[in-house]
Amino acid sequence: MYIAGIDIGGTNIKLGIFDDDLACVHTALTKSVRGDSAALARQIQHLIEQSPVKPDVIGAGVPGAVYRPSGKVNSGNLRWAGVYFGRTLSEVTGLKVWLDNDAQCALMAETLEGGACYGLQSAVYLTLGTGVGGALLINGRPYRGHDNAGAELGHFITHSDGLKCGCGLNGCFEMYASAGALSRMAGGVRARQALDRAAQGDQAMLSAVDRYGRELAIGVCSLYMMFRPQAIVLGGGVSAGGDILLDVILRHVPNCYNLDADVIRRVLRLANARNDAGMRGAAVLAKLNLN
Ligand SMILES: [Zn+2]
Repeated sequence: MYIAGIDIGGTNIKLGIFDDDLACVHTALTKSVRGDSAALARQIQHLIEQSPVKPDVIGAGVPGAVYRPSGKVNSGNLRWAGVYFGRTLSEVTGLKVWLDNDAQCALMAETLEGGACYGLQSAVYLTLGTGVGGALLINGRPYRGHDNAGAELGHFITHSDGLKCGCGLNGCFEMYASAGALSRMAGGVRARQALDRAAQGDQAMLSAVDRYGRELAIGVCSLYMMFRPQAIVLGGGVSAGGDILLDVILRHVPNCYNLDADVIRRVLRLANARNDAGMRGAAVLAKLNLN
């Protein structure tokens, strides 16, 4: 039995084929088509056709809200409103499809042995990618909200009257903490490149990453005050920045009577699977539903 774990991002689609033990035997990547969900399903079918190992089932994570029980999906980053993507992907591929929010998938991967949330009762998971995704672990279980669309942590507001977000609100955390936000602060340099150049000592990039880190610190501290979790885990493309990212966030943590840099240092960590957590988590989703 082989499982396709697919992380559908606002920029890239990542496919991993996993065996029964969740060992990854093949990966593939392509740019995401936005707007047309049927075209995106055909992109996935193309990746599967090119794979040397054929999957028996699909788990997929999308950057948006997946409502239950309807299966309806809304995604600002993919420009989907009310699409039934699980059904479409199943029709196009001829395979059973399990679909969920990408951050929820990634959190699931990180709760397994070796993951950043293994054995924990409470955690906040953030994916820092094209947008900012979120997932919550409360009392050892994922918290999904009454209709499965909960924990959209990219859309709490950190700047009143701030930049207009794709969700329709102004000043969402996502507008200041996504890869696109870092790129904007770095004068158009891509997020990963900005982090690499900052790590090499480029002053302009260090200054951009510092501004970005301040925005992340605002969000991370707010989430800590709300949930007081055992861990706050950073995944998604920006998490590839590694220690430089953690250091810059800690530098901007304010001191107050129940919060300081030491408190945040104890809980803040990178996703063990880094940017692959979404793909692996999607495969975990399918595997758990099969058992
Ligand atoms: Zn928003």
